[in-house]
Amino acid sequence: MRPSAIDFIRQFAARFAVRDNGENQGKFFQNLIRSMTLLGLVSANSAGCGQDANSVKPVEVGKLRFEQQQIDLVNGIREKGVHDEKVLKVIASVPRHAFVSDEFRQSSYDDNPLPIGDGQTISQPYIVAYMTEALDLEPQDRVLEIGTGSGYQTCVLARLAGQVYSIEIIDELAKRAKKVLTDLGVCNIHLRTGDGYKGWPEEAPFDAIIVTAAPPAIPEKLIEQLKVGGRLVAPVGKDEMQWLVCLTKQANGEVKRETLLPVRFVPMVPSGRSD
Ligand code: SAH
Repeated sequence: MRPSAIDFIRQFAARFAVRDNGENQGKFFQNLIRSMTLLGLVSANSAGCGQDANSVKPVEVGKLRFEQQQIDLVNGIREKGVHDEKVLKVIASVPRHAFVSDEFRQSSYDDNPLPIGDGQTISQPYIVAYMTEALDLEPQDRVLEIGTGSGYQTCVLARLAGQVYSIEIIDELAKRAKKVLTDLGVCNIHLRTGDGYKGWPEEAPFDAIIVTAAPPAIPEKLIEQLKVGGRLVAPVGKDEMQWLVCLTKQANGEVKRETLLPVRFVPMVPSGRSD
């Protein structure tokens, strides 16, 4: 039903465009589609579980208040160099304020990380968009995420991929993320509390792996769990000296490594500390 709502508006827009050179009406309808997407009335992507199940339901928290801020945020991310329209559409439609506590809700659409408790942060939206673009996801992809945190990045991935498997080491955060994602109606996700260094061997191999806490080096077990042709994006390094790295597993088994951006993530908790 939801994609056809977009088609319906597009047909209207096309009719007006023929009648009146289209400029103003075209813009009006574009804005209408954007607003409906922001409100969760239409989904950016209907692939995934069930008929329309990975679309995000409208949220009740400050429903209309953030509309312009979210549009500004997406425009800012585009200006910073993310150009994948599928990714930008999802950033424009996922309600980041649902993943942020009351205390920081007014800043939900600032392009900054924000505290989510337990010394952890929800990632900066530009970095979420940049890493997601680097993963180059297809609608049927199976994705492993290490560091669920607030669940915001998980939600973005779930709107672009088929199934998302996400591991969080802090149980309290995993539970909170699960509640928010369930309330938003995101169902193509699988959450687990545990040690991300081990990956999720029972569900491997994955088309894409994203790590949202910084290990000193990319864990070998994660590389093993990547499909041939798959991409792994992770911040790597200690303290201030981290780089975002993208690995691609090649047919001959070799791994191609690209260094993308200097970044600053919370450290990945060493293996064994959670057990
Ligand atoms: N993508 C998240 C960012 C969370 S910050 C968001 O947008 O909200 C990184 C998260 O990684 C933190 O929640 C932290 O607890 C988690 N983390 C750190 N070390 C980990 C490990 N070894 N295994 C799994 N999760 C880990």
